[in-house]
Amino acid sequence: MKTLKNIMFILLVCLVSVFVLVACGSEEKKDDHTHTPGGEWLFDAENHWKECSADGEKVDVAAHELEKDICSVCKVKVTSEGDTAEVYVLNNKGNWVVCYHYEGGKMVSEDTMEYKYAADGSIQSMTMKTDGKLSYEAEYDTDSTGYNYEKKTVQYSKDGTKYTVEYDSNGDILKESKVKADGTVEFDYTIVHEYGDDSKKVSEKVYSGEKLIKETKHIVLFEDTWGGGSFHIEVTTYNDDGTTKVELFNENGEPIGD
Ligand SMILES: [Zn+2]
Ligand SMILES: [Zn+2]
Repeated sequence: MKTLKNIMFILLVCLVSVFVLVACGSEEKKDDHTHTPGGEWLFDAENHWKECSADGEKVDVAAHELEKDICSVCKVKVTSEGDTAEVYVLNNKGNWVVCYHYEGGKMVSEDTMEYKYAADGSIQSMTMKTDGKLSYEAEYDTDSTGYNYEKKTVQYSKDGTKYTVEYDSNGDILKESKVKADGTVEFDYTIVHEYGDDSKKVSEKVYSGEKLIKETKHIVLFEDTWGGGSFHIEVTTYNDDGTTKVELFNENGEPIGD
């Protein structure tokens, strides 16, 4: 009986060994499999890699090779400051279409940008979504010289606030408004710019709705033949109580006592 028990035990040990060997064998087989990297590069703020199409494992992991912020291998644009980083996916015109924001190595939000281009390739409009929600819009225009400029931008905040700015081709603000989610107007400014014969700005008037609230005049003190010179800036503020305040500044924006 004792011998039979011993034989049974030996058989059991053998059986277990076979199982273990079979298990090990299949494990080795998996390690032997040659990964098939997918065509697309995947990336985070530090590295790029490819994914094996058979088992999804990361292959060819390497750090970005940045030249002027653009990785020469996976073609993303990476900018970083402190522990925050932005990774941009660019389209064939060099404009970014997706931006991933990283904080402490973790992706925290994602912006997507859509463009409309004119026939000459210049941008007509852009629409940005942050985590799928509309967050920014911009319209472009082309002036008589062919200069493509930002005409109107709208920022949509998470709390529903809409901030709109309109510009002329000089980059001067023509309109600026902020409207809350419930429709309350926080401010609604119209700015009228006046230019002299030399296309230098002469004055600027700021209206809140219909009411003139601020006037800025550029007072030329002397002018050099080469276009330089000296000027003062006179700012008149029209207060709600009907009083006005006049302040004088030098060309560096420093107040001048009267
Ligand atoms: Zn694989
Ligand atoms: Zn890369």
